[in-house]
Amino acid sequence: TAEAKLVVVGAPGVGKSALIVRFLTKRFIWDYDPTLECTYKHQTTIDDENVALEILDTAGLDDPINKEGHIRWGDGFIVVYSVTDRSSFDEVSSLKQYFDEVKKARNVSCVIIGNKIDLERQRQVTTEEGERLASELACAFFETSACEGGEDILEAFHEVYREVKRR
Ligand code: GDP
Ligand code: MG
Repeated sequence: TAEAKLVVVGAPGVGKSALIVRFLTKRFIWDYDPTLECTYKHQTTIDDENVALEILDTAGLDDPINKEGHIRWGDGFIVVYSVTDRSSFDEVSSLKQYFDEVKKARNVSCVIIGNKIDLERQRQVTTEEGERLASELACAFFETSACEGGEDILEAFHEVYREVKRR
């Protein structure tokens, strides 16, 4: 069985925990303890291969040393922002830079998710802006709704695994 450690990061409240829970259980949980930080173990099949995933749900408010530890631990990263929160989008590129710095590599496996697309009327970040940033940072890009679900959430997790395998 292949193994990979994935870390989900992003500003508080963007839906990291909701996305992970949706990926793992196909359910949406409205209120998730925002301070909770934990790892999940998940056995799954990706492209006909058995994969043991460990997924770290970060709380985003922790001290930098701890964060550096998280980044060292991870093989691949999912950076989440909310399309309804421009400041969460503005944090994405510095997070990606921080991975590269800590890992001392330029091509850290990383996908970017713009979440909460069900809240179309509150949207502050366009799909094009998300696509442009992802292509600048050489990351795959997905837009999702943890509350509506859909294949894109699964695809994002699978894609980061593929990136890890490639490197
Ligand atoms: P985290 O701090 O990044 O882990 O964010 P949470 O997963 O705790 O979600 C923060 C809040 O946003 C919660 O009230 C969720 O119910 C809500 N939320 C998360 N994802 C979505 C989404 O895709 N759409 C909507 N409408 N709300 C969401
Ligand atoms: Mg959370």
